[in-house]
Amino acid sequence: MQKIDSNYHTHIWLCRHAIGDIDDYVDRAIELGYKEIGISDHVPLIDEIEKKLVTRRMTKEEYRTIYLPSLARAKEKYQGKIVLYGAVEAEYFDAMDKLYPKMLKELDYLILGQHYLPLPDGSFFSVYDKVSPERLDIYAKTVTKALNTGCFKILAHPDIYLFNNPDWNAYAIKVAEEIIDACIANNVYMEMNANGIRKRSFMNPEGELVYRYPRLEFWRLVRSKGAQVIINDDCHTVENLHDQATVTAYQMAEALGIKYSTRISLPKAIEKENNE
Ligand SMILES: [Zn+2]
Ligand SMILES: [Zn+2]
Repeated sequence: MQKIDSNYHTHIWLCRHAIGDIDDYVDRAIELGYKEIGISDHVPLIDEIEKKLVTRRMTKEEYRTIYLPSLARAKEKYQGKIVLYGAVEAEYFDAMDKLYPKMLKELDYLILGQHYLPLPDGSFFSVYDKVSPERLDIYAKTVTKALNTGCFKILAHPDIYLFNNPDWNAYAIKVAEEIIDACIANNVYMEMNANGIRKRSFMNPEGELVYRYPRLEFWRLVRSKGAQVIINDDCHTVENLHDQATVTAYQMAEALGIKYSTRISLPKAIEKENNE
């Protein structure tokens, strides 16, 4: 197994459901001998969406007054010690489509983590719900539309729709095919997310022990289609960095014969326009 020395999916206290500040994660990463770490807390939402969802995360004001300045300060502090990236994990919503290119100028990359899905009547459902095939299709279409914007570098836990819809049936496979193809077409890394390994596992009909995500059957399909893969911790505590779940995720990729990346390739830093 390759040495584990990077993580591009890290949360901090600002989202109110993670513990620790940027420096806590970076110090621990350096201690572990990591070469790269990306901080990627949950994106702030616009008011009209936020009021319809039950979610904890930083506000728009905190993004400007705390998150961005803290990242800049930390990059300065840790220069030469580790490669530190600033990112966010963002849902894609039509009403926010102007914001993604703007954030991409302030950050190094964006992760797509689609936890909420829009319905035609303006309401939303959660990706953790048990849902109809029609709603699974909304997940596939929303993710594909988001990736087609070209703003996202990583698709977080692409298989999360299986969480409470665990049957690996024709609908599940159709969704998987669509989003794998969208990742390949847009040069987006598919993320094997170690956080799912920290949750309950179960036995599939073939008698294999599987996690709700990363889900074995899904990742077999990823391997056969040849998408780019990255393995991330999705840590919400410092202890999650390089824990047993991380090791298990790497072992799972190796056992499946997945050729994963340990570095993300980013476009050369073009001048960031700050005053837009
Ligand atoms: Zn979170
Ligand atoms: Zn996350």
